[in-house]
Amino acid sequence: MTNFEKIFTEIPETEASATGRVNLLGEHTDYNDGFVMPTAIPQSTTVQLGLSNDLQHHFYSEDLDELVTILETNHTPSGFGSYIFGCLQLLEKEGHKIPPLNIYVKSSVPIGSGLSSSAALEVATLRGVRSRFDLPIDDIQIAQLAQQAEIIYAGVQCGIMDQMASSLADPEHILFLDTRTLERQVLPFPSGAEIVVMDSGVPRTLATSGYNQRRAECEEAAHLLRVKALRDITDPNMVEELPEPLRRRSRHVVTENNRVLEALQGISAQRFGELMNASHASLRDDYEVSVPALDTLVAMLQETAGVFGARLTGAGFGGACVALVEAGRGNAIAIDVLQRYNSAGNNGRILVPQVT
Ligand code: ADP
Ligand code: MG
Repeated sequence: MTNFEKIFTEIPETEASATGRVNLLGEHTDYNDGFVMPTAIPQSTTVQLGLSNDLQHHFYSEDLDELVTILETNHTPSGFGSYIFGCLQLLEKEGHKIPPLNIYVKSSVPIGSGLSSSAALEVATLRGVRSRFDLPIDDIQIAQLAQQAEIIYAGVQCGIMDQMASSLADPEHILFLDTRTLERQVLPFPSGAEIVVMDSGVPRTLATSGYNQRRAECEEAAHLLRVKALRDITDPNMVEELPEPLRRRSRHVVTENNRVLEALQGISAQRFGELMNASHASLRDDYEVSVPALDTLVAMLQETAGVFGARLTGAGFGGACVALVEAGRGNAIAIDVLQRYNSAGNNGRILVPQVT
């Protein structure tokens, strides 16, 4: 008997998955209409679904061991149910009739580490519903619905990167995305390089308030600079007249966008790594979204032989780091750094490459 049957006493009708993502360059740029460079990670979220026989939606997360029942369709649940419910509600608003469903969620994407478990949950849900009801929606629309679900129903003022990455990226390539135009390119990894992703073990406590504050600062800076969004500034000197902390915040966004555009030119692993190191320094000093544990882990990675560069990834305030390393050495580098990081009293873990 499947776990779905144990919870819902029915067999699932459809199954769909979506991966998490790690962002290599272009952090805190997506809500500034800027450029990003994520790739998919091997970890994914799977949803199984079937029709509910009691006129109510039921969502179960195996990872949280939590069951949510939607009693009234005009009442958004709190917690993980809001992401799923948001996706279903938005489909309804688009004119697709969605009957009451049983949805079972299981994931290998770490939750709350900056690898986008939330987008993986939304995209997997939308893929499952699309497949079950043959909905005429494409992968871009799935990403856009997923982002709206997160903003409107889960209350997170996110950009479009996570959902686009979960819907379109694969682990063998880097996805370049212009978040204003949604123009994108599928790129190879820099020659001779692979990635390492490590969780710092520090929970992202101030992430939501810090994120919203940074977002508001960027909007204010764009307003003072008389542009639609900070993406419209390409010369870092243009932000020098702004009052602090807007000057530093915008300097991060402008220089980060320029780093992504440089990486788009097909640069060496060495240079890509230098840009990642510069990105971390900018996130730490100008954007102020790092924490001591992330700085320690990033520095350990940067100082290790075979590492081209490393930085925090995701919104910051805790969570994961990403490094670009020599191809074939990722496993050994990650094990070595983890051992040193954890013997200093930390609680890190290796997420990519996956231990087999
Ligand atoms: P992340 O960086 O992992 O996306 P977020 O804070 O954006 O972090 O999203 C985490 C939230 O997404 C969780 O608190 C939960 O509500 C929801 N979520 C993600 N994956 C799952 C899952 N497998 N089961 C239940 N809820 C999940
Ligand atoms: Mg998220």
